[in-house]
Amino acid sequence: MSDFIFPLSQPGIGIVGSKMRFPVRRVWCVGRNYLAHVRELGNDERELPLFFSKQPDMLVPGGGAIRYPSLTKNYHFEVELVVALKAGGENVAVADADALIFGHAVGLDMTRRDIQKQMQEKGRPWEAAKSFDQSAPIGPLTPFPGLLPPSRIRLSVNGVVKQDADTAQMIWSVPEIISQLSRQVSLSAGDIIFTGTPEGVGPVVRGDRLLAEIDGLEPLAITIA
Ligand code: MN
Repeated sequence: MSDFIFPLSQPGIGIVGSKMRFPVRRVWCVGRNYLAHVRELGNDERELPLFFSKQPDMLVPGGGAIRYPSLTKNYHFEVELVVALKAGGENVAVADADALIFGHAVGLDMTRRDIQKQMQEKGRPWEAAKSFDQSAPIGPLTPFPGLLPPSRIRLSVNGVVKQDADTAQMIWSVPEIISQLSRQVSLSAGDIIFTGTPEGVGPVVRGDRLLAEIDGLEPLAITIA
């Protein structure tokens, strides 16, 4: 029996080829990890990547219909490779990082771009721009031993390709991301990391159908309701 005064559900993600789900502890995201995207937003390309987080219950596992959120008139998609960890640690060496990986999925770091710009201009945190209900649709995890090989990453809206790049174009590789993040916080099994988006981000409107794809992984489809 639980000693909690009321029950809460554990957020989780489906696993390809299994009836089991992956339990999510923390959701981390990397900003500015593809050069062409850093340039399209007018940011400093020599900066270190920055980490921010979303809450596990903001995930939309398997995609489907999501609401157009409040507070924005410029709601953007960002297709990203997501890495899920089966183990963690502090100060993980780059060479040891791939042993922590359980698998990979396609994710969308949905963003209130107008709020993000306002917050940046005022020197305020990104929270309201990035961390809100249904802001992190994610496809099922494909278990994969170690690193996913460089793969084509694409996003289309209503059948029109908007983002088309390769994960090899990341500024900071997945092992480097894991290593750096493990200096900021202790990582643990159940943590997932959105690894940044390539160029071509843009707005969506109600009724849009988004298809996010990374070669070798299950695609993710969402509709803006
Ligand atoms: Mn992002």
